Amino acid sequence: MAALTELTAVELLEQLRRRACSSEEAVKAMGAVIRRRDPAIKGYLEVDEEAALDQARSADAARARGESGSLLGLPLAFKDVLNLAGQPCTCGSRILAGYRAPTDAGAIARLRREGAVFLGRTNMDEFAMGSSTENSAYQVTHNPWNPDRVPGGSSGGSAAVVAAGEAWAALGTDTGGSIRQPAAFCGCVGMKPSYGRVSRSGLVAYASSLDQIGPMTRDVRDAALLLKALAGPDPMDSTALDLPVPDYMAALATELKGMRIGLPKEYFVGGSDADVERAVQEAIAVCRKLGAEAVEVSLPHTHLAVPTYYIIATAEASANLARFDGVRYGTRTKADVHDPIEMYAKTRAEGFGAEVKRRIILGTYVLSSGYHDAYYLRAQKIRSLIRDDFDRAFGTCDVIMAPVTPTAAFALGAAATDPLQMYLGDIFTVPVNLAGLCGLSVPCGMTTDRLPVGLQIIGPAFGEEQVFRAGYAYEQATQWRHQRPPIADRTDLQQG
Ligand code: GLN
Repeated sequence: MAALTELTAVELLEQLRRRACSSEEAVKAMGAVIRRRDPAIKGYLEVDEEAALDQARSADAARARGESGSLLGLPLAFKDVLNLAGQPCTCGSRILAGYRAPTDAGAIARLRREGAVFLGRTNMDEFAMGSSTENSAYQVTHNPWNPDRVPGGSSGGSAAVVAAGEAWAALGTDTGGSIRQPAAFCGCVGMKPSYGRVSRSGLVAYASSLDQIGPMTRDVRDAALLLKALAGPDPMDSTALDLPVPDYMAALATELKGMRIGLPKEYFVGGSDADVERAVQEAIAVCRKLGAEAVEVSLPHTHLAVPTYYIIATAEASANLARFDGVRYGTRTKADVHDPIEMYAKTRAEGFGAEVKRRIILGTYVLSSGYHDAYYLRAQKIRSLIRDDFDRAFGTCDVIMAPVTPTAAFALGAAATDPLQMYLGDIFTVPVNLAGLCGLSVPCGMTTDRLPVGLQIIGPAFGEEQVFRAGYAYEQATQWRHQRPPIADRTDLQQG
């Protein structure tokens, strides 16, 4: 049998159920892998092994008492933007150094009720703003496939630890692609649920009308398992809708008969790297062999999605980040100040990084009187047009398939010199958030430089079942999920 740490989450839970291992053993085994590999990856900001062991022992004791839970004893990593009672939550920012969460986020509380164990906090772009995790105030995370490449972002730490075998699964958040893009760059599975599927309470807000929490996993079945546990209403978040949560694992099938796959013509106009285009086309061919029918669809406002997203997201961020003022949360400037305004200014100048400041300034500008109608209001109108495009497309197809990103993982350092170029890389992911849809990233190939490529499967709002079905059938028909990055084979990192 494969080592404990190499199992999928579903397989590990099966071992736990059969008492072939304990959750305590699982945490210890993963702790050892993390100690060996994470110094080279730097995916975790903190691993609280003692706390995880306590939770694991409680889970083992609960099982011994005959209790159950869909995640009982499963250790998970989580992005450092989620509140866990008593734990630090920095959002990758200096401004939140020293802050400890007073309560569990709604999504975390659900996982805890199902018996999950929390292993550690993963690195991220500051306040989830970025596509490379290089905007973290704390450390640079390396792509497990190539240490000179970014892991993607903003949930780059979560993607890297899953891909490097340092976690069975992790939580990420996705405002404009931050689950799907790092999953694609690191070769793991990432699910961005429909807006309103998962509670955002206790998730530090970036852009409230776009943010969603979702799972990042080794395969599609694990993502289905975790979303089932994450999803559902929450009295603390009125946008988390009270709709039935399907049994996503039961929706998985290995054929795609009767499924219509929409291929948006605007997404296949030669704007992607040849390797990405080839891998995605091959994936679509596999799906057709499994019985799906491919139809061309049109999303005519695609070219407006990136500017629309960067107006709406920055506008919402400028309002959300106003709360970090040196009074209520986190750190305060140590400088000599003479009045509260100077204290706010110094605290924010010292506490925020360059990208966060850029976005607060942009967002404040597009909301300012005189510019509000020209930018923010107009962006909201275009957002409706983008949503209408998808509504029309889903009239003729069940899911849409596309690349996750136009390129594979780019070089560390490349984004810092040209933020605009980095924003443009979000072209295939931001429309999904603007329209409130769900999107899955599934590994679908490798570039000639041995970097993973992701297939994006987009579903209508609350259409997660059909997205999982398509993703699972495709994944099971191919071998990509068995690919391991070189770090998992390096023997110098395997000896304790
Ligand atoms: N890359 C996008 C941005 O920088 C998406 C980030 C996200 O989804 N959190 O805003």
